[in-house]
Amino acid sequence: MKKLPFVTKEQIEEIAKTYPTPFHIYDEKGIRANAQALKEAFSWNKGYKEYFAVKATPNPFLINILREYGCGCDCSSYTELMLSEAMGITGSDIMFSSNDTPAEEYVYAHELGATINLDDFTHIEFLEKTIGTLPETISCRFNPGGLFKISNDIMDNPGDSKYGFTTEQLFEGFRILKEKGVKHFGIHSFLASNTVTNEYYPMLAKILFELAVKLKEETGVHIAFINLSGGIGIPYRPDQEPNDIRVIGEEVRKVYEEVLVPAGMDDVALYTELGRFMMAPYGHLVTKAIHEKHTHKEYIGVDACAVDLMRPAMYGAYHHITVLGKEDAPCDHMYDVTGSLCENNDKFAIDRMLPAIDKGDYLVIHDTGAHGYAMGYNYNGKLKSAELLLKEDGSVELIRRAETPKDYFATFDCFAIFDKLQKEM
Ligand SMILES: *Cc1c(COP(=O)(O)O)cnc(C)c1O
Repeated sequence: MKKLPFVTKEQIEEIAKTYPTPFHIYDEKGIRANAQALKEAFSWNKGYKEYFAVKATPNPFLINILREYGCGCDCSSYTELMLSEAMGITGSDIMFSSNDTPAEEYVYAHELGATINLDDFTHIEFLEKTIGTLPETISCRFNPGGLFKISNDIMDNPGDSKYGFTTEQLFEGFRILKEKGVKHFGIHSFLASNTVTNEYYPMLAKILFELAVKLKEETGVHIAFINLSGGIGIPYRPDQEPNDIRVIGEEVRKVYEEVLVPAGMDDVALYTELGRFMMAPYGHLVTKAIHEKHTHKEYIGVDACAVDLMRPAMYGAYHHITVLGKEDAPCDHMYDVTGSLCENNDKFAIDRMLPAIDKGDYLVIHDTGAHGYAMGYNYNGKLKSAELLLKEDGSVELIRRAETPKDYFATFDCFAIFDKLQKEM
């Protein structure tokens, strides 16, 4: 399928007059339609709730849109909890799914009344010592180990992942927690990332639902919710078939009716913690071609770099590129599209067939709405870009300004050199 941007060349030329490139721009209309579809797909489950994985796109303006569709926040750090609290999202609207958790983060999550999702057996004791008690409701993260396979395809390798309790630890953990007075239990698991198949959630649901029945039978606990977490992916490549959330919701319902309902567990709420699926397709990184270089290869140098989008440099991830105004031109030129970091992996595309690119052309890098801006860093003293929201009425709102040197040097504010730096800004 041809991947087309949600903005045109004319729109970007207009926007760039006020907000110079590079910037991330998000599509409100797309975010809303997708959030609505997710909500409908799981509306058969009475307690269903999506906790948006804040780490994917930690911007309150975007999270506020999701909130209208009943979403809460999935947090995993102190500042993510702060952001949620500042937005008025507290209590059971927060799922705290952290790992290797510092004590002060448990204290804060507990103060906010967040549902705590323990990553490890030893955290039972750690949490109890840290906050002086145990909450009435608690969740534990499960990791069955081994390989996670669909048919003959290996989807991911839980045996090699640092997260979660083993099966034995989970049964033992639930017994201990019950003895200590915990009343309501949740089970969480995240076994495969960025799955582009409708089968992942139904398969995961079967594993977790069967586990829940056993846990209830053997330990006598009340299972209040099952958290399918993140992992529903998006088609980064044009040849990939997108997931159909309606089919996924329907298949999970079938498993629910097969496994949980006969066990008398028809009150179990389902939760999700999607990040990528909620936002990735609805963000573009917009950047301008500022140089061309003809050496051993053909290079296009753009004004964005890995600081704005790290996934290609970090994992060799594919992000589709559209040259605005040349959507229908033949892709008959092979380029490496590079940023300016002094790192040879700072390339948004390698050996990519694209239309002939001229200096001044705007490039849209697709699917940057999740794990895009958020992963940014400041290497080479590069400053992070702005974030813009393309609203449903076609207007554009600045939802995070670009960094300035002042931001970059802010952490020197207790040193003498800071005054000199300030003068130069
Ligand atoms: C990253 C993460 C998510 C979101 O994952 P996506 O791949 O963006 O859906 C959800 N839950 C936890 C615990 C995570 O670490």
